[in-house]
Amino acid sequence: MLLPEKIPSVEPQIKVGIVLPEDQQTELELEFPDPKLYAVRPGKSNIKGNKLRITINQKDLQIGRLRLHKIAVKRLASPNNLDNPLLVKNVIAGRGFHWKKAVNMSLPGDLQIRVVDGCILLINILPLEQYLMCVATSEMSAACPESLIRAQTIVARSWMLANIEQKHRALDFDVCNDDCCQRYHGTGQLTPHAVTGAQSTRGQVIMFGEKICDARYSKSCGGMMETYENVWDGPPLPYMQNIFDAGTSFHWPHLPLSEEENLRKWVNASPACFCSSRVVSEETLTDYIGTVDEQGSYFRWNFHFSQTEMTDLLNEKLDLEARAILEIIPDKRGGSGRLTQVSVNYLDQENNQQSCTIVSEYEIRRVFHPSFLYSSAFYIEQLDPEEERPAKFILRGAGWGHGAGLCQIGALGMARKGYSTLTMLKHYYPGCRLVHIYS
Ligand SMILES: [Zn+2]
Ligand SMILES: [Zn+2]
Repeated sequence: MLLPEKIPSVEPQIKVGIVLPEDQQTELELEFPDPKLYAVRPGKSNIKGNKLRITINQKDLQIGRLRLHKIAVKRLASPNNLDNPLLVKNVIAGRGFHWKKAVNMSLPGDLQIRVVDGCILLINILPLEQYLMCVATSEMSAACPESLIRAQTIVARSWMLANIEQKHRALDFDVCNDDCCQRYHGTGQLTPHAVTGAQSTRGQVIMFGEKICDARYSKSCGGMMETYENVWDGPPLPYMQNIFDAGTSFHWPHLPLSEEENLRKWVNASPACFCSSRVVSEETLTDYIGTVDEQGSYFRWNFHFSQTEMTDLLNEKLDLEARAILEIIPDKRGGSGRLTQVSVNYLDQENNQQSCTIVSEYEIRRVFHPSFLYSSAFYIEQLDPEEERPAKFILRGAGWGHGAGLCQIGALGMARKGYSTLTMLKHYYPGCRLVHIYS
């Protein structure tokens, strides 16, 4: 396990949660392309053929007739080699999001398996650099330019080692394999290009003052980066600011975007930002973006809801029991236009007017879409009033994700325009410096 705010002087081993108790999985199938490379402990639980099927027996694991408290799978020969990784079948990718699906994952390193709350917990233990090679390609396709893969790897390494969030400490692993932490899908999409990209940045992190940057990133900022404090609890971070995701000559007169009228103009326009379709066309984007994402429009988008659809949605997401939604009011926005507070006026079952408030960028995205809205940088058109209630709601928005720190599609735009890795890092994390912490 990593220690908070400790700067390592040698490459650490990390623990990644792959199958979590919340996935409610009660059986597991592992496949070993080369069983000689692996040992399963305790030693009696040998691999039969090249497969291992593990089920649950109350609080224990079961392999054939053998009942075990926990199982360790160790890679014996060449533990630092990425060849012939073992395969874990049906792992959840996109946990809790609209692109959720089950995938098979080839994992380097060792495994630890145990039972938590009647379900399987599978942890992958591997050297940080191997993990990072896989993260760079899981987050963006391996076809991306090398300068982008390098930037993405340095950012992922910095975020890991800053280790601020520790969302999974209670279950004894550092990060999970999904967007909750950082997307990691094993070695499946690894290419020589991605390996070189990571190796060429080995041990490099971005720092601000004496601390490793808590380097958050998201898919598309929508053209303006968001600050830390508008997305997460905690004091502002000096290296996450409201900055246009564009070259220095870019000009946009209607500021700040936290004001409703300015945000509307921003969303309705198509400014030539690095993440815009004017720099990275949507056809090009599908060649680069990770394979589990829906293909669509991320820079500017809209969603349409009828009165009934909006009422049903808010009833489900907020437990409201409303008869009708009267008005949705944007209360507060961050500097990228992202909503951080929204109020909803509605009629309850007795036709009394009620109101509720939704707070936080994350909660707003969870509420205003059947699965999860791209971003909270949107305005709401409330159209065709009938009996003092809109018949239609249209959400018009910008960007995908929280928008703080590196914008992945913007960084792709920068890389394609020929900017260097260091220029990208200094653009998305102003004031940071690049430091080599281990060799
Ligand atoms: Zn997580
Ligand atoms: Zn951007």
